[in-house]
Amino acid sequence: MSRVRVLTLLTALLTAVALTVGVAATAEAAPRKWPHGRITYVDKSKDPDAVKLAVQIWNSSGLKIRFKKVRSVRKARLVIQNTKRVPSGCGSGYGTLGYPGPGRKAYVSILHGTDADGQGCAWPGQTLVVAHELGHVLGLDHTMSGCSLMNTSHTNGVAPSLCLGRNIDESKPGRWRCRVLEKVDLKRVRKIYGGTPKLRVPEWCDAIERIPATGAVVATQDPSSGWFTTTVTRAAEPAVPGWIGTWAYGEPGYEIHATPNACTAVPGDDSTQVGLGLWADVPVGGALTEDLPPLPAGPVCLSVWQFDRGYNFALAPSTVMVTGTGARTSSRTPDLPPRARGMVEVTPFD
Ligand SMILES: [Zn+2]
Repeated sequence: MSRVRVLTLLTALLTAVALTVGVAATAEAAPRKWPHGRITYVDKSKDPDAVKLAVQIWNSSGLKIRFKKVRSVRKARLVIQNTKRVPSGCGSGYGTLGYPGPGRKAYVSILHGTDADGQGCAWPGQTLVVAHELGHVLGLDHTMSGCSLMNTSHTNGVAPSLCLGRNIDESKPGRWRCRVLEKVDLKRVRKIYGGTPKLRVPEWCDAIERIPATGAVVATQDPSSGWFTTTVTRAAEPAVPGWIGTWAYGEPGYEIHATPNACTAVPGDDSTQVGLGLWADVPVGGALTEDLPPLPAGPVCLSVWQFDRGYNFALAPSTVMVTGTGARTSSRTPDLPPRARGMVEVTPFD
């Protein structure tokens, strides 16, 4: 059977979500099925965590397939290995399509990834890539009819590209499509091998440890101008992995949101954001002060969320209720730094 071919790298900026199209060079209409759904494999790669997780996900899918680890290449029907010959760099690979026939081996080849290259090349992205290549080995070719592990590309190593919406924040490092096997993937493999497919829950996971809580916030009002001075204390933050640094701006800080009557703001929502601070040299336990313009008359909740250098928000905000005075004539204008905005990298699996 033929190898699935590899295509070119595509790096898309901001909202571009163009995709490359992978062509599975199928010599036959349907790839051959592995006898009894059993595939012995040997892992010769330097990405054992990704391989282990990808195998475990397929093996617990409820389908009548099993990847069984063996020690020697001689005993293995599938060899998982690193190669430098992937035109798309790390986060992409090759996989043999379907059962190669008696006495022949199947191969999964990926480029060894390093944290410096971002989430697509660290364990979350590599796990998606290995799982995708194993999908080819089982006999699946690409599909672009919806969210599928067998989409031709993934975005930032966060998810297969069609599993993401158009909001750029959905593809930021730290988020991960931990379901891995989508409904359509399970359905297609069941058609070949049988079994009772199980969808993994949850669909999405944090691939990093999130800041548990935001530091305290204090707001004092200048009665003559109606302006508020807010002071936010920096709470401790878990260390972030090296691969998180690919998100543009990459500075930890906090956002302040204002909502009338109750604390209903959602972090990242432009429509309620009134302030943003970057910690820069402020240590944990230190504080930043900034001025907010007058708020609408009546009770207003100020909600503050810390975020890490991947723009991942703390699990909990800090809030304070204040009383807005309504707009006052003032020559001062709010000084809002630009929102943290990232870069979307779309990488073909193969
Ligand atoms: Zn592929």
